[in-house]
Amino acid sequence: MLRNFSSYRQEKEAGGQDPNGKLRRALELIHPFITAKDNREQDQPRSQVIILVTTICNQHCPFCQAHCTSTEQGPELTRLLQAAERISTMLPGARVIVTGGEPTLRDDLPQLVEQLLALQGIAELEIQTNAVAIGRQPQRLQLPPHEKLRFVVGMHGFTEKVYNRCTGSRGMFQDALSGTRHLLQHGHRVELNCVISTLNLDQLQRGLPDLPALFGSPSPVLHFSVMGIPHHLEACRLLVRFSDLLPLLSRLWKMASARGIELQATLSAHHMAVPPCLTLPNEPPAVDTIHLYEHENFSPGLRDDDWWVKCPACSRCRLQDSCLGLPHLYAEQFGFDELVPLR
Ligand code: SF4
Repeated sequence: MLRNFSSYRQEKEAGGQDPNGKLRRALELIHPFITAKDNREQDQPRSQVIILVTTICNQHCPFCQAHCTSTEQGPELTRLLQAAERISTMLPGARVIVTGGEPTLRDDLPQLVEQLLALQGIAELEIQTNAVAIGRQPQRLQLPPHEKLRFVVGMHGFTEKVYNRCTGSRGMFQDALSGTRHLLQHGHRVELNCVISTLNLDQLQRGLPDLPALFGSPSPVLHFSVMGIPHHLEACRLLVRFSDLLPLLSRLWKMASARGIELQATLSAHHMAVPPCLTLPNEPPAVDTIHLYEHENFSPGLRDDDWWVKCPACSRCRLQDSCLGLPHLYAEQFGFDELVPLR
């Protein structure tokens, strides 16, 4: 079903479809290291809460959206535990994402994770990591598997050379593999997140067949993400043109299916979304375009007037009311030639 973005935003502003909006804003004010969103699923409101536990990272991915340049420790554990309690009571059923920086660099991460898993009001917990510290010191994170818990491991290259390029690091690829294997072997659910950029675009097809051998069994789910608009604007040169990205995704999809690799893809990321006129042929033009703009770090309504642009041809498109067009930084780089108004 197609929904209209403007009316959706008005509904949200009026609070009609977003009864927890004020509670989420209150949580963000009390705990500035939290970002809380309405991440509706099947038209049901569901709060998604991101906890930034540290801004320190051991890698330097040039397309990083977290922009972690700080060397300061994150909030004290007592403050994180208080926040966890509040999330559970104020937003029952919440999905919580623990991110950074690199969360596993915190010695007290296991205590926070145990508390989050024990709280009834928290339905799901995702830990975003590069798994390097786990590979180097597996004892840092000895947690039993839990039905609420999954790990999302950043794995932007399947060979050491590409991995180094994408993470701005050296000597970490084997540790990341070993940390990921450690999680899998201990029964955790693991998803590999691979951000597609010009740094790995040409290598993914070559590397994908080796993936099962890198991890053995059970193998992780593989998730490809569109690169978002980075904080460092010079990194926009790493953006991939959608008309190169979508056929590649289609080929990767076929290769993965043939090799029994479970693959997912997200067509939106931090203030970036593939417009519906470009989505894969099998994706419906009747896609609910709101979902394209529902990425975890995207704030509908915020900056959309100057962030998104359309071309004159968009006025002839039947989706013009439900589509935001292209991020202007993307359009500056690639123009509007790719867009084909839908009739
Ligand atoms: S032609 Fe323009 S309005 Fe239509 S889907 Fe593409 S970007 Fe959106």
